[in-house]
Amino acid sequence: MHEITLMSVAERIQGRPKICSDCGICSSSYRPMLPQVCMFVENRAEQIERKLHGRNRNDGDELLFGIYRSRHVIRMAKPNLDAQWSGVVTSLGALLLERGMVEAVITTMAVPGTHHAPLPVLARTPEEVRASARNKPCLSPNLDLLDQVRESGVKRLAFIGTSCQVHALRAIEDHLGLEKLYVIGIPCTDNVAYPDLLRFLQIASKSPDTIVHHEFMQDFRVWMRHEDGHIEKINYVDLDVSALGGELAIFPAACLSCFDYQNSLADITVGYLSAPLPPPERWQWTMVRTKAGEELFELIRPFLEVGTLSERGNRQVGVSEYVRMLKRPRKRPPFPIRKLIAWMQRNRGPRGMEFARSVIEMKLLRNLQYVRDAHGRLERRIVPDYVYRALATYGAVYEEEFGRTLTP
Ligand SMILES: Cc1cc2nc3c(=O)[nH]c(=O)nc-3n(C[C@H](O)[C@H](O)[C@H](O)COP(=O)(O)OP(=O)(O)OC[C@H]3O[C@@H](n4cnc5c(N)ncnc54)[C@H](O)[C@@H]3O)c2cc1C
Repeated sequence: MHEITLMSVAERIQGRPKICSDCGICSSSYRPMLPQVCMFVENRAEQIERKLHGRNRNDGDELLFGIYRSRHVIRMAKPNLDAQWSGVVTSLGALLLERGMVEAVITTMAVPGTHHAPLPVLARTPEEVRASARNKPCLSPNLDLLDQVRESGVKRLAFIGTSCQVHALRAIEDHLGLEKLYVIGIPCTDNVAYPDLLRFLQIASKSPDTIVHHEFMQDFRVWMRHEDGHIEKINYVDLDVSALGGELAIFPAACLSCFDYQNSLADITVGYLSAPLPPPERWQWTMVRTKAGEELFELIRPFLEVGTLSERGNRQVGVSEYVRMLKRPRKRPPFPIRKLIAWMQRNRGPRGMEFARSVIEMKLLRNLQYVRDAHGRLERRIVPDYVYRALATYGAVYEEEFGRTLTP
């Protein structure tokens, strides 16, 4: 497993379907079930939604965020300073073990000697779960551990992971013989293979080797914390993605074909996208999705401070402009213009819920176009219907630019 996560994406997915996020199913003994469980072979999100919730998404926010029973702005009253944000996710995993509600938690440590290379583990103690705090923002074969789950006789399991992993886990759930499964989802977009993360950090930072933590913040900047504690920040608009060969050269086909940024099939999703700034306050946000998600929220609630959801601005003009840029990509503007754009984004751009909506819509649009350009024949199988409903507002501008309808 150590070796797998250090490989390039091309090495990792050799012999697999072209679109693969290396979720771990294919390296486990469950590989024969690939056609039934992989979201890049056939996206079954709407079928799984009906099983979990008895319905599909309603119009409005659910189209972007997935079905939820409640949503909250939260942070740990005593934050874990080593966590990605305040440590809600690992605290929840640790609590499940402490209270005897599960026997094991699938979570992701770092490969020894690295800060960011993921190493999935079947944690049996609260300490092990806490030690897995912080993102290792690279493709991680977490479902490979389902073999260990079966072999060790674990019947009550918690799983922490990304949406491609959760799609496969939900699709295979009934075959695992588990008595209880809690799914704690983290939102995820534009993940990369480990060597590509190192390439990205080279262009983003003056000292890439000392970065211990980084995040694409809601203030339109990447914040990078170094070993000595200092924080380096770079505007999104200043990132020279062309030096990496463009988005297609760094992001795996799978992440460009993903339509579930918000991990909608989890019991509870814990992210930061809609949380209020500034980042050092470590506010997070959560969507409680299922009855099991309500149990998880009640479990962690005594340890939380609760804030308020907010929003500012109107995303639709900016997102319409993004559709035009998808069709006619522009060159990176000169420094003074970039400075102005960064200022405008920070001071006039959408905030809170509206920021989250804008980011999700842009990713849906970009990925729909990627699938059409690169894997057109797969569109009907791997793009769920809710995507077209979610993007209907941009139908006219899409048609004007691309000369075809947004719907298939
Ligand atoms: C690649 C990636 C992209 C993300 N993008 C977004 C985003 O765009 N918007 C957003 O709101 N949130 C995003 N998140 C989630 C967010 O950054 C935090 O992980 C989340 O809010 C939990 O914070 P925490 O302090 O509660 O987590 P912690 O308590 O620090 O726990 C982090 C958990 O993440 C798990 N983990 C770490 N790396 C991986 C991995 N590669 N695969 C699977 N699980 C992993 C660990 O096992 C651990 O359980 C992303 C996470 C990852 C890994």
